[in-house]
Amino acid sequence: MVTRIIIYFRLEGKVAVITGAASGIGEAAAKLFSKYGAKLVIADIQNDLAQKVCRDLDPSSTTFVQCDVTKEEDLENVVDIVVSKYGKLDIMYNNAGIMGAVKSNILDNEKSDFEKVISINLVGTFLGIKQAARVMIPRGEGSIITTGSVSSLIGGVCTHAYTSSKHGVLGLTRNAAVDLGRYGIRVNCVSPYAVLTASAIDTLKKMGKEGSDVYSTLKGAALTPNDVAETAVFLASDESKYVSGQNFIVDGGFTIENPGLS
Ligand code: NAD
Repeated sequence: MVTRIIIYFRLEGKVAVITGAASGIGEAAAKLFSKYGAKLVIADIQNDLAQKVCRDLDPSSTTFVQCDVTKEEDLENVVDIVVSKYGKLDIMYNNAGIMGAVKSNILDNEKSDFEKVISINLVGTFLGIKQAARVMIPRGEGSIITTGSVSSLIGGVCTHAYTSSKHGVLGLTRNAAVDLGRYGIRVNCVSPYAVLTASAIDTLKKMGKEGSDVYSTLKGAALTPNDVAETAVFLASDESKYVSGQNFIVDGGFTIENPGLS
């Protein structure tokens, strides 16, 4: 009974930003972070969906700020609002991301689409880390979470641009962990396999796959957004206070089952 109560206060007193929290994994994370007691700013490019997520949560501890993660001034604004409203920033969860156009042959891939994916997934993560570090460094603490994928480790699962961006996110996570560790700031990556969010289902269809094709997970069940969000909660909380520079693969064993891929 006591343990159950403590678990519900895992993020009590923490202040978090989650990018891309209007849908999918970010939305699940917003609900969990809020359930575990965090004050929260949802930063997303989509206004209506994000407002709805905010309305579903406690309005006294959740705020929406519209933000395009490819624009440094937007992320700067988000962080400034967090600090002026809640006094500090403890957790920056860089979750916003896209998969890009599904064209397996590199000759069919457009430079503009490649650049767009890199810009949101990789440059957006760089800017999120940088802006969070700006206010975390003076306090000497903080947890920054980035979003990789099994495509941070292996090729052939998703688009060229996506795989490139997610390999980049993992490298950036490791570099930032070394750089920011001396200020007491932890940086870790969460790398899921296929999570059947609306956008992932849409991408799988374009790749000619059904959800059941990617159920190569424990007990044959597909990952849910909540499974990924729970890992992010661990990395956000003090339970992981000595964990930094790590990649948390949430794939139900996919990369181990397919060792040639990893
Ligand atoms: P999703 O499409 O449901 O959510 C992505 C969110 O990012 C949306 O709310 C969208 O509005 C927001 N977003 C997009 N561009 C943005 C921008 N420029 N600025 C701010 N917000 C922006 O996707 P998801 O499936 O929940 O994926 C979330 C993250 O998890 C992504 O980084 C994705 O690459 C990663 N991931 C997903 C899967 C999967 O199978 N679903 C697997 C591995 C990794």
